Amino acid sequence: MTQIRIAIAGYGNLGRGTEAAIKKSPDMRLVGVFSRRDPASVSLIDSTVPVYSMDDIEQYQNDIDVLILCGGSKSDLPEQGPYLASLFNIVDSFDTHAKIPEYFSALDTPAQKAGKLALLSVGWDPGLFSLNRLFGEAILPQGETYTFWGKGLSQGHSDAVRRIEGVKSGVQYTLPSESAMARVRNGELPQLETREKHTRECFIVLADGADADTVRNTIVTMPDYFADYDTTVNFIDQQTFEAEHSSMPHGGFVIRSGESGADNTSQVLEFSLKLGSNPEFTASVLVAYARAVHKLTQNGETGARTVFDIAPGLLSPKTPAQLRKEML
Ligand code: NDP
Repeated sequence: MTQIRIAIAGYGNLGRGTEAAIKKSPDMRLVGVFSRRDPASVSLIDSTVPVYSMDDIEQYQNDIDVLILCGGSKSDLPEQGPYLASLFNIVDSFDTHAKIPEYFSALDTPAQKAGKLALLSVGWDPGLFSLNRLFGEAILPQGETYTFWGKGLSQGHSDAVRRIEGVKSGVQYTLPSESAMARVRNGELPQLETREKHTRECFIVLADGADADTVRNTIVTMPDYFADYDTTVNFIDQQTFEAEHSSMPHGGFVIRSGESGADNTSQVLEFSLKLGSNPEFTASVLVAYARAVHKLTQNGETGARTVFDIAPGLLSPKTPAQLRKEML
């Protein structure tokens, strides 16, 4: 079997999870990791895999089938995505929902021009949740779709708070409203304001000399991330942070409550995830979609794509005949 040659751009939580997910996929091989930091300072799970400087990435175009981008959505991917899409077939997990259409265009042009494929916003939300929102709406056109997250640590939001000046360490948890979920599952079709569905809670360690009120205000007013939610900001010390906030659980629910038939029979469709590690699961989704990208590029497809454009059978290492026999 010829293995798919994968490389990783950016080695944080998601990069590490991607390395682990590739190890569990026998049809793939990790050929290298690219980092903006000094390669000698980046230590992988498998020390035999080479780490290269991101500055040298152009030299490796012939050695990589699919490059998985593991940078942060707030400032890494908007800068790295368009450049890397002009050199490689890429997959990323860009999760700033409001900016996805703009980011799609920013990848589409360079990818088309270079004859490459760029699959963006893969993961669980956006990603698997997006697919389930689409299924619910297409199958039950009369109804409402509800997404609840948590309780869990949001990487995108934690990434955003950590980049604020004066923040030494920080995490953000999203909490769903149990009463709101019960009403939805009951088929009540409630109209819920953003604030009624979730709250957000941050735990922050301040850098020396930083002002707590300034940091709190920057967080709670941040557009796209916190401005539309009730956010509590707690300041703690580094020791407590390390003891109580180092694992990364997450999860959530997509619920479509709709009606069918002449008598408007209630139908509820629900998809849920309970994740012990958000980055490891997100990375596993990225790796499965990297396989799909590889298959599509062999058919000559180019330009930007989202999960809506990828047929599910392409995610599997099995052949279409095997899938028909074993899974239908
Ligand atoms: P990290 O902050 O851990 O890593 C982001 C980047 O920061 C890395 O690629 C790395 O780049 C750099 N970095 C990592 N560690 C260090 C360090 N010690 N010092 C300096 N730089 C470092 O972010 P995550 O991996 O947790 O998350 C990445 C993105 O994944 C999030 O922003 C989020 O948008 C997305 N995501 C998407 C989901 C989805 O469902 N679609 C779900 C979960 C996350 P480099 O190696 O080049 O320095």
